[in-house]
Amino acid sequence: MTPEEFREYGRQVVDWIADYLGSIESYPVRSPSRPGDVRAALPAHPPERGEPFDAVLADLERTILPGITHWQHPGFFAYFPANTSGPGILGDLLSAGLGVQGMVWATSPACTELETVVVDWLAELLGLPAHFRTDARGGGVIQDSASSASLVAVLAARHRAGGAPGRHTIYVSSQTHSSLERAGRIAGLAEGDVRAVDVDPDTLAMDPAHLDALMSADVAAGATPILVCATVGTTSTTAVDPVARIGEVCRAHGAWLHVDAAYAGVSAVCPELRWINDGVAEYADSYVTNPHKWLLTNFDCSVLWLADRVPMIDALSSMPEYLRNAATSSGEVIDYRDWQIPLGRRFRALKLWSVIRWYGAEGLRAHIRGGIELADEFAALVRADPGFEVREPHPFGLVCFRPLWPDLSAEEAGAATLAMMERLNDSGALYLSHTKVGDQVLLRMAVGAPSTERRHVHEAWRRIQEAHERR
Ligand SMILES: *Cc1c(COP(=O)(O)O)cnc(C)c1O
Repeated sequence: MTPEEFREYGRQVVDWIADYLGSIESYPVRSPSRPGDVRAALPAHPPERGEPFDAVLADLERTILPGITHWQHPGFFAYFPANTSGPGILGDLLSAGLGVQGMVWATSPACTELETVVVDWLAELLGLPAHFRTDARGGGVIQDSASSASLVAVLAARHRAGGAPGRHTIYVSSQTHSSLERAGRIAGLAEGDVRAVDVDPDTLAMDPAHLDALMSADVAAGATPILVCATVGTTSTTAVDPVARIGEVCRAHGAWLHVDAAYAGVSAVCPELRWINDGVAEYADSYVTNPHKWLLTNFDCSVLWLADRVPMIDALSSMPEYLRNAATSSGEVIDYRDWQIPLGRRFRALKLWSVIRWYGAEGLRAHIRGGIELADEFAALVRADPGFEVREPHPFGLVCFRPLWPDLSAEEAGAATLAMMERLNDSGALYLSHTKVGDQVLLRMAVGAPSTERRHVHEAWRRIQEAHERR
């Protein structure tokens, strides 16, 4: 494809995306596709001769779109919303256009140095401690996902614990994201060495007293506690662990404190939500939040900060001959390949830079506040209906709630709730997901897709009410 051909098709692609975004409400949120439908519509064999790009665009409409779940649809309330934006998409396009592989500083100095600047900017925007800054002892790095970031934290913690004898244990709760358990497995911990700490049955927050007791018992049995994961905004219900109290326990036992704020962390752009950082400056060894979940940045963009980058770099660095270069040897530059699992890395900073510059701190705050306002408004509607119950509190954009089924057992009520959710999701107008707390099945209404307006939230509630009445 020549640059001139690229210009022609590039314009078509940008027009196509703009038309798509402009008409997104006309699609069913969740793809109605059945297993194998998309595959059956595609040729079994690759073409022998090249095809014009128009053919690809035509097939995109015909065979791919029906199999797309429209994450940018204003009726998308499942999981956590995908946060995309015009500047996010364009930043990603520029990254593709430059085609940079930024494994070390020398392979494209701007890729590393822009990343360093934007993660420092973001730390400042979120009110994170100065020692997380890259010009201090710590530093930030953009990863593909919080799962990778947490794995890096586990490996760094394990390295810091060094040759400590016996079992190495890490601590999570029943509400911790499953990626921590996987990180433990990938890091080679023995089964049973990812320890489950109790949660408060009402708040679902990790119980620091039980954490302390568990760690003391493990130490007495010859184990070395290496890491505790505290979560700010759990995936299931956005519960918040008491980071400061957990941090005190970590310090007493010499364990690494990793704070997983994948979804909620970015909300600290708003001063009124800065309380979510309580304890982070004093105790956190690492902290992760995902601009791709709630800060208008296209997937993938997950930022990991370290209080001290040395244990991570010691754990992950290697220097094969083919990567030796003067800049690395001088010690004056950051080589981000030592801050992540893969060697190669995309120029992700471009999209975060585009987003922060386009919206400014003011625009980012408005986005977070808008989502929380709509979530609060939705919760008020649900609360006002005696046929439903809201799970309190809901400090962010997620509202967990359940329809009440007075004549049904807990098990039957759960099944009825799930059936109701399936009917709603089949309608194509909205998309909800669910979770379970104790024996209660809850519906999750996650507000925060950039396209979602007040009318979409009210329309969703109207449909939910109607689905419950029609039981
Ligand atoms: C979504 C989520 C994760 C996983 O994020 P990925 O970036 O998809 O790996 C981890 N922790 C929490 C609390 C989450 O909400």
